[in-house]
Amino acid sequence: MGHLGQYADQAHGYFTFPKLEGEIGTRMKFNGKERLIWSLNDYLGLANHPEVRKADAEAASRYGFGHPMGSRMLTGNSDYHEQLEKMYAEYAQKEDAILVNFGYQGNISLIQAILDRRDVVIYDSLSHACIIDGVVGTLAKRFIFEHNNMEQLEKRLQTALKIVEKTGGGILVITEGVFGMKGDLGYLPGIVELKKKYPFRILIDDAHGFGVMGATGMGTAEHYGVQQEIDIIFNTFAKSMAMIGGFIAGDKKVMRYLRYNMRSQIYAKTMPTALVLGAIKRLEILRNDHTRREHLWKIVKALQEGFKARGFDIGPTQSPVTPVYMKGSIWECRNLSLDLRENYNIFMSVVTYPVIEKGSIILRVIPTANHTLDDVEYTLNAFAEIREKLDAGAYADDKLVTPFMPKIVF
Ligand code: PMP
Repeated sequence: MGHLGQYADQAHGYFTFPKLEGEIGTRMKFNGKERLIWSLNDYLGLANHPEVRKADAEAASRYGFGHPMGSRMLTGNSDYHEQLEKMYAEYAQKEDAILVNFGYQGNISLIQAILDRRDVVIYDSLSHACIIDGVVGTLAKRFIFEHNNMEQLEKRLQTALKIVEKTGGGILVITEGVFGMKGDLGYLPGIVELKKKYPFRILIDDAHGFGVMGATGMGTAEHYGVQQEIDIIFNTFAKSMAMIGGFIAGDKKVMRYLRYNMRSQIYAKTMPTALVLGAIKRLEILRNDHTRREHLWKIVKALQEGFKARGFDIGPTQSPVTPVYMKGSIWECRNLSLDLRENYNIFMSVVTYPVIEKGSIILRVIPTANHTLDDVEYTLNAFAEIREKLDAGAYADDKLVTPFMPKIVF
């Protein structure tokens, strides 16, 4: 059954695999009723932007979803694919960029293409599954450094240097821009500083930073002023771009190598033209309409300061990702979430044992540019009330279920 699968009977359709119905936005239907949604990474609200929807519909009607057929290298290339790559390379201030048809597989295959048995890879302990899966599937020697621990990274670099001196390989350090669970940032200035002492390349996965961080939304490297020092930047379309696919940007030479060596792109169908056109429209808005990002940050500030002012623990987040940490049993987590969803009509993802340690609850709040200050106020007040109930033991009963969800029994 697996780690989570063992709870499938009790949770399926409600806590796991829930269905959010209706147009993507801050109000969607869940379990038959409209709820306030705080769980989608549609940071800039582009999923349902009228211009985006229009571009998607026109592109789909013109090209369908089949065009072009084949892999990029053989018959799946087009001017639009190349135009999108050029736009992104310019935006990311890199020599060249590659479009990948899926984020997760794209990152795995990027990592696997650039590492061989002579190389050493060192990656942050909180890295996303696609980084771990990418690294584990290579023959390179691999080391982990404790999340953002620069001293430990330096020690690993010293060990790596000794290895590559013998093998003739290179060293790759991988981290993330924004860590999607905690919301804190990869400490890029510290890693860049180490480049002065050790020869290595940096790859960052900036899935949650792209479109959100930095003065022009370029991402976490822009936020830290180290865009030029990052050798390879990977972004998915799954968050701010509200689509599917991803980008890789870097030097011409490296991108050329990747184009001819990334197995996920060579041995798989290219991204459909309709989606490429949708991505072009999204990227135009993301680059040019800074009002969305500004509004997002206004909401983020109000939400995070509001939580802190009310004494909630939101950890070290520096991004829109807002995890609210609470203490409680699995029953308390279940009842609290049910109350929040069914009585306050607020939907967000909840994380508890066995994903995190027993006795902890994380409510992960994801603000977007479409939320309002009223949404924030309503949610903060609801949180204050549920915490009072939690502290008073109101959720402790393992038989307590709301009239709406009699089925969920752990
Ligand atoms: N990297 C990170 C950090 C992610 O959070 C995700 C999840 N969206 C991915 C990669 C995978 O991207 P995709 O969903 O586009 O496959």
